[in-house]
Amino acid sequence: MNYNAAHRIPQRSPLCSICDDYEETIIHAMFRCPWADRTWQDSRLPMLHEAAIANTMEDFLGMVRLKLSEKEMRLLWVVVWRVWYVRNSVVFRGKEASYLGIIPYC
Ligand SMILES: [Zn+2]
Repeated sequence: MNYNAAHRIPQRSPLCSICDDYEETIIHAMFRCPWADRTWQDSRLPMLHEAAIANTMEDFLGMVRLKLSEKEMRLLWVVVWRVWYVRNSVVFRGKEASYLGIIPYC
């Protein structure tokens, strides 16, 4: 993530590679970046509040493990993988960031 890389490489921007508005932490990239947030809203998984308040992925997982059913946790991991895949397609292959089609794919 750019936020961590910017601490090691001074010339590197800590801002998000997609929205360029916020520091690119793992929580921002996976949940709070506007297109990712829209994906999670479409998923209807009851974890938006946890994604909004967690400081780290560990915090987030600790909170949602207590709240989501086993079936919802499986869907969460599929959506996480898909968000990561689409994000990498945008960052490394120049694809357009779009939440469309992610949830039906899952
Ligand atoms: Zn962003």
